[in-house]
Amino acid sequence: MKITFLGGAQEVTGSTHVLQTDRSTVIRDSGMFQGHRAEARQKSEHAFDTLPHANAVVLSHAHIDHCGNLPTLVKHGFNGPIHTTHATADLCSYMLRDSAHIQEMDAAYLNKKLALKGEPLVEPLYTTPDAEAVLPLFVGHNYHEPVQVTDDIRVTAYEAGHVLGAALHLFEITENSRTLRLGYAFDLGRKNLPILCDPEQLSDIDALVIESTYGNRLHRDILQSEDLLAGVINRTCARGGKIIVPSFALERTQEILCVVQRLRLDKRIPKTLPVIVDSPLAVNLTGVFLRHTDLFDADTMALMARGAKAGTHHYVRLVSSVEESKALNDDKRPMMIISASGMCESGRILHHLKNNIEDPNNAVVIVGFQAANTLGRRIVERAPDVRIFGETYRVRAERVVLNTFSGHADRNDLLRFVDGVGARCKTFILVHGEPGAIESFARDIRARRPDCRVETPAREDQLEL
Ligand SMILES: [Zn+2]
Repeated sequence: MKITFLGGAQEVTGSTHVLQTDRSTVIRDSGMFQGHRAEARQKSEHAFDTLPHANAVVLSHAHIDHCGNLPTLVKHGFNGPIHTTHATADLCSYMLRDSAHIQEMDAAYLNKKLALKGEPLVEPLYTTPDAEAVLPLFVGHNYHEPVQVTDDIRVTAYEAGHVLGAALHLFEITENSRTLRLGYAFDLGRKNLPILCDPEQLSDIDALVIESTYGNRLHRDILQSEDLLAGVINRTCARGGKIIVPSFALERTQEILCVVQRLRLDKRIPKTLPVIVDSPLAVNLTGVFLRHTDLFDADTMALMARGAKAGTHHYVRLVSSVEESKALNDDKRPMMIISASGMCESGRILHHLKNNIEDPNNAVVIVGFQAANTLGRRIVERAPDVRIFGETYRVRAERVVLNTFSGHADRNDLLRFVDGVGARCKTFILVHGEPGAIESFARDIRARRPDCRVETPAREDQLEL
């Protein structure tokens, strides 16, 4: 069999791998490329130009850099099944429509400028109907349920501990009466994340494809999050201020809610502090989480049981309408507002930052990775001023950066996973990372397993296994 890497190789976005045998073609993930607009658009649009007829897709999880190019694939003519977990299928129905809406808004914004210059207009990468055309193709499965995807390829999903419903995969590929056991470990999560069960270990495999995102870095301990968050909440409440939390709608928002709920029940923060989730997408995704509580870890189930008894959910409010969102500005009580986007680049968070960032009584809490050239990054780097909607604002609010919530395995987690696959595994394929992280991780594996083949493919490379 051979694997062709159409994305997510020597880079962290656009994950798309094509697995081919003599008889079948299966695509693992179909992610959107992100980064510089024109280049990302070009790569996403043309990702499938050389793709042969594909029988099926196997999807790992609902992050846009893994599922966001499915509408392009379907536009390209794919109409086979998309195998994934039930939770991922549910999350994708909101994530893909939201992504389509962003594509449409983006094209409309560009077209306004192009029309003024008399230049030809652009089409969105895909539209809402394109995204909706993907949804009937989803086939939901449980973890540990082997799925015969084609005559010669069987796939089983395992807990990834990354976002709700995320899966590591075991591909069993039979050719010439020999079965190759190929493990897929990306995106690979971490132990002890709120809500999620810990990642499962793949073992007894012949080859492993593994992410390298933090192949050269270590995270701070997730268990510090509660103390750090309690500290900033209490300081801000004592000042009578608001706590503004820019957050990704999927997973991070629900994790913050979970941690805050625990602090409230443990009486470590004021019991009546209102916590507002102000993002229609986050509200919808939180609803999906509550439909899949069977995937929550034991701590979270115990917390929910306590919370239900104490009736404290009363203080969490989910806000979808624009009117309610605007009204939050007139409410001068201390409160926590969790809103998208996670990097402060668009969405309602901009209004909350504009209205609150100049008041030293308030706090801005950064809970996720902030890419270069984003407003979030300027806040993290303690820039004295920031620009929002074309106006300059002096940052007087307290700034707190919590790097503890990352959903990706760090260097030690990755090496532990590599050690855990066992001696049978003789091939390691490192993907989903910047070149520096991949090289460092490859050196570590070669040092531990000098008998093994270690590959670091680039986009459009092909490997035979
Ligand atoms: Zn992910």
